Formats: sequence, C-alpha cells, structure tokens
Amino acid sequence: SKGRLANFSAGPAMVYEEVLHKCQLDLMNFEGKGLSVMEMSHRGASFTKIIEEAEQDLRTLLRIPETYEVLFMQGGATAQFAAVPYNLGWRHDPSDVAYAPRADFLTTGSWSKKAVAEAKKVGVEANVLATGDNKSIPSDVSAFDYGDAETRAQSAYLHLCANETIQGVEFKGLGSLGSVVGKGGQLQGAPIVADMSSNFCSKPVNVEDYGVIYAGAQKNVGPAGVTIVIVRKDLLGSPKAGTPTMLDWTVMSENKSLYNTPPCFSIYVCGLVFKHLLSLGGLDKVEQINKAKCGLLYDCIKQSQGYYDCPVDPKCRSAMNVPFTIPGHEDLEKVFVQEAEAAGLINLKGHRSVGGMRASIYNAMPMQGVEKLVAFMKDFQAKH
Ligand code: PMP
Repeated sequence: SKGRLANFSAGPAMVYEEVLHKCQLDLMNFEGKGLSVMEMSHRGASFTKIIEEAEQDLRTLLRIPETYEVLFMQGGATAQFAAVPYNLGWRHDPSDVAYAPRADFLTTGSWSKKAVAEAKKVGVEANVLATGDNKSIPSDVSAFDYGDAETRAQSAYLHLCANETIQGVEFKGLGSLGSVVGKGGQLQGAPIVADMSSNFCSKPVNVEDYGVIYAGAQKNVGPAGVTIVIVRKDLLGSPKAGTPTMLDWTVMSENKSLYNTPPCFSIYVCGLVFKHLLSLGGLDKVEQINKAKCGLLYDCIKQSQGYYDCPVDPKCRSAMNVPFTIPGHEDLEKVFVQEAEAAGLINLKGHRSVGGMRASIYNAMPMQGVEKLVAFMKDFQAKH
C-alpha cells in the first residue's frame, strides 16, 4: 500500500499487509469485546481461543504430529541456545554417576557457533562436527563425519542451524540423514535439534526428522517477542537440575505456554500470519513463491557477468537471505545501499561481520519487491 517500502531487513522483517490491516481493524475493539488483545487477560476466554487457534493452525501448516508439543516461549532463539542443553543434556540414567553431557554441533555460520558457545556455558561438552567455510556445506547432511556408533551413542543431541541468516547458507533438507534418522528423529540415539529462526514456515519440513525445532518469530511469522519451540514429547521430563523456569520446556508444556504472562500480542499476530499462510495454500505454495523470488535474484547476480557476486555455493544458497558483493569495487557497495534506499529499497546493507549487501526476502516480501530490486541492480550496474 501507499508509502510502504520494500524492506529487506534480516529481522524484524516485513509482515503481510493483510495481517497488518487485520491488526488495525482489531486494535481498538477486538471482536466487540471492548478492548484490544494487548489489554486482555492471558487467562481469559478470548486469549485462550487465540493461542489455541494459533497452535492448531501451525500444526496444520507444518503437519505437526500429536507426539510433538508446540510451545510459545520468550527470549528469542538466543534463549533457546541455552534451553536446548538445559533440557536435553541430562537425559541420562541417574545411576551413571560418571555421566558428563556431550552433544554434536554442525557449525555452518555465525548462529550455529553461538549455539555452541551457549551449550558450553550450560556445561555440555561440544563436539563440533563441521566448522564449514560458511560458504559451502554438504547439501546432504549425512556427508558430515559423525564418528563411530559408540561415539554417536554418547551424544545427547545433534544441533544445526537450518538457515544461516548472516552467511546465507541453507540446508536443503536432511538428505540421507533424514532416512537414517527415520521416524522419531533418532540418529543412533541422538535427536536432531534445528534452529529454524530464519526459514521457519518458508517451506514444508518433515517434523518427524527432528527432535526439536525452534524459531524466533520476527522473520517469517510475526513480531519479535515470541519464540516457537516444537519438541517431541518423549524428550521432555528430564531437564538439568536447576534449569531456570523460563527455559524449562517441561514446565512450559505442562502449563500450555501459560506458566507466566506470555507475549500475548505477538502470539496473536503469529496466529494471523498462520491463517494467512493457510489461505495462500499452505507451505507447498509458500515454498513455490519463495523459490521464484530468490530465483529472480540469484539469476540477476549470475547474469551480471561478475559485476555482482554471491559467495555461497549454489548447492546451499538460502532462499531467505541473499548476500552479494561488487567484487573489486567495494567502494561502490556503500553507494549501492544509499541509492537503493533513496529508491525505496531499504535495509540492504550486509551484516557488519561479512560486509557487502544482503537481501532478506522472507515470506512477506512480495514478488514486486524483488522485481524492483532486480531492476535497480541492473540500472546500478549500467550506471556504475
Ligand atoms: N538464529 C538465527 C538463525 C537467527 O537468524 C537469529 C537472529 N537473527 C538468532 C538465532 C537469534 O535470534 P533472537 O534475536 O530471536 O534471539
């Protein structure tokens, strides 16, 4: 709508206009109740309906089986970096007095490295299986060296980042690891835990390949403040002694995410986004649109004959975050970002740790936004 810009921010990011309109409509007086969602009790009938519907719609979207719990938590994905070791690191036989928790980590970029650092703080020894060069990861996750069966059996879990927001590196599935794990997410004993913060609900995933999926909402499904955790029920019940209540999945699950006051308004907006994604035809359709959008951008980079470059191996290029540079003309990158902004294309500056540009094109970025960017890139190349 008029005055709104094409926002390529890595997050918080664009929200569907339909959802914003609905929020606006509901804001003063939600369904004739005489108050807004942000003013109502989290234990009242209206909010109960909101949170239950949000969970149900997410279950429909991702085909989440009943054997999994859906939690709405706080503290962002960063809090989950700690929650994962707290909840999964101490699921051992209590008679094993020599037990020392250890987990496996695939580190393919900045965020998966942060998850390692946090697990260490909680007291889980980190076995880092791949450091990666952040640009190329095996498209088949099973290509990593997982060690022998005995080593594997001692791992509490395997953690990976499904989409590295900063480097633009995305796993395209679990490859044959998915079939090795099969039903129940078992890789010779260790459940797979995936940080899906930046590609959550951007495509269908087979939830049963994972023990845990978590994601902050602020990229694909709503405002910051709520973090979604999908956890297989048999993994609950054995948090580390002394786990802070707010990080304890078992407590959150026993209290249906209402142990304390949840981020009500954020959950409500996520619920609206889930309904919108369903109305678009579900995640198969959403993935199709996302593939078309990132395809336009990657094609433009390829057709620039080296003027623009994307450093990421084509096998694992993210459909959500597209980093690119102007090799040999780094001075022009600043000009690019400034001129783009003047043309209504905002937040294209690359992450401070990698430089260059980055276009984050989450679900709610319309095709026209990407088309505008591509046209701008062609003009910019012709001009400079
Ligand atoms: N993981 C990934 C993949 C992310 O992109 C981000 C945020 N950019 C985080 C974790 C951290 O999320 P939060 O800010 O919600 O703690």
